[in-house]
Amino acid sequence: MKAHDGMYIDGAWRPADGRDAIDVVNPVDEQVIGRVPAGTALDVDTAVRAARAALPGWAATPPAERAARLAALRDVLVARKDEVAETVTAELGSPLKFSQAVHAAAPIAVAGSYAELTATYAFEEKVGNSVVHHEPVGVVGAITPWNYPLHQIVAKVAPALAAGCTVVLKPAEDTPLTAQLFAEAVHEAGVPAGVFNLVTGLGPVAGQALAEHPGVDLVSFTGSTAVGRRIGALAGAAVKNVALELGGKSANVILPSADLAKAVNVGVANVMSNSGQTCSAWTRMLVHRDQYDEAVALAAEAAAKYGDRIGPVVNAKQRERVRGYIEKGVAEGARIVAGGPEAPQEQGYFVSPTVLADVTEDMTVAQEEIFGPVLSVLRYEDEEDALRIANGTVYGLAGAVWAGEEAEAVAFARRMETGQVDINGGRFNPLAPFGGYKQSGVGRELGAHGLTEYLQTKSLQF
Ligand code: NAD
Repeated sequence: MKAHDGMYIDGAWRPADGRDAIDVVNPVDEQVIGRVPAGTALDVDTAVRAARAALPGWAATPPAERAARLAALRDVLVARKDEVAETVTAELGSPLKFSQAVHAAAPIAVAGSYAELTATYAFEEKVGNSVVHHEPVGVVGAITPWNYPLHQIVAKVAPALAAGCTVVLKPAEDTPLTAQLFAEAVHEAGVPAGVFNLVTGLGPVAGQALAEHPGVDLVSFTGSTAVGRRIGALAGAAVKNVALELGGKSANVILPSADLAKAVNVGVANVMSNSGQTCSAWTRMLVHRDQYDEAVALAAEAAAKYGDRIGPVVNAKQRERVRGYIEKGVAEGARIVAGGPEAPQEQGYFVSPTVLADVTEDMTVAQEEIFGPVLSVLRYEDEEDALRIANGTVYGLAGAVWAGEEAEAVAFARRMETGQVDINGGRFNPLAPFGGYKQSGVGRELGAHGLTEYLQTKSLQF
């Protein structure tokens, strides 16, 4: 794992404009493991100019050639998967096994899916007396978070390149080494100079400069709702395309006919994985009042098993934020049945896997995104009550429904105001559209739906 001290712009590592740097810290032992340059508005401008210059050539490249570059990118990610896993573990703190199984593997699946899709997608279609061409939107400014450092990057860059767009990426401050490794992979895959560019730096400086740059045609942002709102406003003022993947507060609805133990165990695992730092995590478990006590006991037992199996959260600020939420939950009447706000160990940004019982829908912990290993268990009276609680937040990113019969779960899921629902523990699908209803975002990522975000149509009439 090597930290570059420059920016990857126009096919090469170039010296940064300024001298400021960002320390990368390992959240397990709090040691500095690398240093990357903090980009300035000038770095961003240089990168956007390179992306603009490369756009006509890349946009005109036949889809088969773009597919070949994406296949080569997937192959590099396969060849370097151990390095990816080690890098994510070093800067995010996730256990190595999880980094291998998820942080390194998911981007391979997504890059591979776009290699296939690019080769087969109808970039031209006939509609009556028209031929509709699906053309690239242009230069993409991609801004990504730290929680799934490589997946979030690939979920933007792969469809953008597939569409014929060129990209400037500003990755999260906490996980820039994974982004640098990705830039090396793009280079190795033979993607032409200027098609992909990387500027590391602070959100309010480099991120903001990218979002504001007049040479950017589409801003694709994943992160908090607070920053997303600002980026949406900037894009609106400039009449620019924007895609926002924001926060979530998803419900895991366990209907009375469900296999309770399975639903609770999978639900706890879903929240604790990646130390709760998953935007689509089912952080509200909704249980019928007759099964409530049993579900709480099962959840507490399952969470206790995670004790030393999860990694820390990403940084000290996040740890304090998560602890603060647990304390606030207790102050508002919730009952801790596993974990708690105390630090489980001296060193590292660890938070104990925590389950809060007696949570009611009006409490802060039932409404706001915590982004840590904290599950809230809520009680419902009947199905209508469950639906009202499930839909009763500003978010709508994901969710789960469990029932004895699949059809019963599907009928409930159809009434949920959310972008994805897992039925009886359904598996992750890298081709299924991912994105939010309500304040969870605008636009979709992954699969064919993710590709269309980077395309605009031109109709020719005959
Ligand atoms: P964040 O919004 O603070 O940062 C995300 C990115 O935006 C980073 O690269 C950051 O540097 C940049 N940024 C910060 N301020 C900026 C500004 N003023 N202008 C431009 N860019 C700026 O979020 P975070 O703490 O890194 O990530 C956690 C959040 O991301 C959570 O709310 C989580 O739910 C959300 N998230 C959503 C999804 C999704 O797909 N919906 C996926 C992962 C994370």
